[in-house]
Amino acid sequence: MLPVVALVGRPNVGKSTLFNVLTRSRDALVADMPGVTRDRHYGVCRSGERPFVVVDTGGLSGVEDALDVLTARQVRLAIDEAQIIVFVVDARDGLLPQDHVILGELRRSGKPIIAAVNKTDGLDLATAMAEFSVFGIHATLPLSAAHNRGTDDLIATVLPLL
Ligand code: GDP
Ligand code: MG
Repeated sequence: MLPVVALVGRPNVGKSTLFNVLTRSRDALVADMPGVTRDRHYGVCRSGERPFVVVDTGGLSGVEDALDVLTARQVRLAIDEAQIIVFVVDARDGLLPQDHVILGELRRSGKPIIAAVNKTDGLDLATAMAEFSVFGIHATLPLSAAHNRGTDDLIATVLPLL
């Protein structure tokens, strides 16, 4: 069995885009509509020294009033099946209350968490990252999944933890 890395985060932060880059596939659905990925997608990342399974935990129906419940379910599934959790946040949105809720639950799992601060393209990196340095988790890395920047660093940070 290959080790499993789960991508977790609010809708629309770029999880499916990151999944596509890591697995070099177009299996994960990327769209402007939040919550469009309805089920989890599995792929294998072979870009580093060792392969690992990547899970895009989308799993959100897009039904507004059920969003919190569905996000919580997504987080629990990721915690159950992953060795490492990549917590994806959006540099343009900044740190939102729902991020804190998700992170709180992830932390309780005791599993290693790497924060990937996505959509940093076009932003001043130091300014963009400053807000997220409060996380106090294993690592907080800048990312631009859409431009394939920061993914090598992410893989290099994940591999020693597997
Ligand atoms: P998910 O809901 O977390 O799976 O997010 P998606 O991967 O579907 O992406 C949501 C939107 O953000 C899409 O319009 C993407 O094109 C856009 N997006 C994803 N990554 C980046 C990025 O690195 N930079 C920018 N500017 N946009 C991005
Ligand atoms: Mg998605």
